[in-house]
Amino acid sequence: MPAEESIAESMDQRVVELTELLNASRELSIILDPHELYPVLSNMISRKLGVEHISIFVFRNNTRMFKLVYTHGVGSLNREFLFTDIGAIWKEFLQNEPFSLRDASGEPAFAEFSKRFGLVQLHTQWLVPLVMRSNVVGFLALGDTQTIEPFSDNELYYLKEIAAQAAVSINTSRLYLKRKKEKEELDRTLYNLSLLYSIGRAMNYISDLKSLLEYILNQAIQITGAEKGSIMLYDLENNLLTIRVVAGLRDRVYQRKINSNEIDCKSFKPGEGIAGRVFQTGRPMVVDKAREDELFIEPDASYVRSIACIPMLVYSDVIGVINVTNKLDETGFTDEDVELLKAVADQAAIAINKAQLWEMAVTDSLTGLYVRRYFLVKLQEELHRAERYNKGFSIVMADLDRFKNVNDSFGHTAGDRVLKLVAKFLQKNIRDVDIISRYGGEEFVFLLPEADKEEAYTVSERLRKKLSELQFDDLPRITISLGIASYPDDSDQIEPLIKKADAALYTAKQSGRNKVVVFEEEMELVEADEPLPSDSLKAAN
Ligand code: GH3
Ligand code: MG
Ligand code: MG
Repeated sequence: MPAEESIAESMDQRVVELTELLNASRELSIILDPHELYPVLSNMISRKLGVEHISIFVFRNNTRMFKLVYTHGVGSLNREFLFTDIGAIWKEFLQNEPFSLRDASGEPAFAEFSKRFGLVQLHTQWLVPLVMRSNVVGFLALGDTQTIEPFSDNELYYLKEIAAQAAVSINTSRLYLKRKKEKEELDRTLYNLSLLYSIGRAMNYISDLKSLLEYILNQAIQITGAEKGSIMLYDLENNLLTIRVVAGLRDRVYQRKINSNEIDCKSFKPGEGIAGRVFQTGRPMVVDKAREDELFIEPDASYVRSIACIPMLVYSDVIGVINVTNKLDETGFTDEDVELLKAVADQAAIAINKAQLWEMAVTDSLTGLYVRRYFLVKLQEELHRAERYNKGFSIVMADLDRFKNVNDSFGHTAGDRVLKLVAKFLQKNIRDVDIISRYGGEEFVFLLPEADKEEAYTVSERLRKKLSELQFDDLPRITISLGIASYPDDSDQIEPLIKKADAALYTAKQSGRNKVVVFEEEMELVEADEPLPSDSLKAAN
């Protein structure tokens, strides 16, 4: 082969190699994720140099440890060791040249180190330092070449160049990961803060307790990625923690029945079960594999893996607890979940307390229905709405028939129970938009938005009939009389409307009770200072 040709050939060869190296560097430099970087680096080297085993160790500055992050051609191994353990090798690394683990005569050098740190199992023959600006980033451990020949100068040059690029890339990708993590944490913190802020704001707009509890519970479930949950409130009168709302149950019918108080769930005494314990101590609890925990009391047949229970405090009084159950991703509840729940619970406690005070003011303690005063406020609101939108509405006055007899024959306590059951029956049998109030002793009044006389009659008649057919266990049957007046037909003002409904009720009573009567002009109105029809009847009896 002529000399010039061979020079030209080796020049060509050099260009090819340099191009190869340049491409390899480019390839490495564009990878940001270390988990992508390691296999690419490993493939490059094994393809180019015919190395059968490659392991990549990365030096972690914070722990001063080398960690095996990738192996090729060896089973997966988990290895890490302190930099102080590598003794003389650290100095070798700082030379920033690939070196053999055999000395010039072929005898193993650093034999003790290789054995101790498993380089033998990794079939390591050469170490290639990964150094950047005299900082050790890590090293490559290379095993046998297919030819069992030592590396040529060209190969060593390639290794050194690749190692330099790899050191930079690993460093960059680690920085990238760190920043990414920081950014994610920041994003999450910001997200959680804004979430808490909007939850807090929303709470202040919900005044009715049930909607508020539902809202809070759903936020607690969402924010922690839980499957389901419940809110229990402390009932001072009975000294019990009682489930007030549940969410996320698979059995939706059962859930609806619990939430509408149709069925009672188990209540907890202070100290009893997880909720009782949290109530008593005022401290959150997280229990995994809740079934194995002796404190866990199965509330129903539902499957529970883990539970986080957070107290709600107003000043230093626990007013209830929020429970969330089973993380959807099958992990347990984290400290962060608990922190978030605590923040939600703190805001919830204040809002719930306010709503409870509000409810005490606007609802009647025996029946749970709105009191007359609040009903009149709602009626005024409805009147404005009806005027504005040119709609109608009806009001229905209702009074239990011969209720005095119930008291007289069965006692006042039985009378109270009847009242409570009738209230529940009426509430359950009207639309959500309808409003019912306990107007007086055993008198009720309904507001039926957008219902004209005819519709109001249909509703009233259905209630009357259904109640007359109802038998409350050991209690006497009861019937009801109802009187209807409608806006705008009978009046466009509140007082006359109520009076006219009352007059219709009076007529119903007079014509035999257990009746629905719609107001007509010829009916006599009861004057304000006259006794109400029921009272006047009582007086007549
Ligand atoms: P009528 O068919 O004419 O309405 O006959 P009535 O016996 O129901 O007569 P009226 O409505 O005038 O009487 C109401 C009675 O209801 C009188 C009172 O003792 C009783 N009552 C009112 N509030 C309560 C209560 O909270 N609990 C109980 N147990 N009884 C009540
Ligand atoms: Mg009555
Ligand atoms: Mg009455």
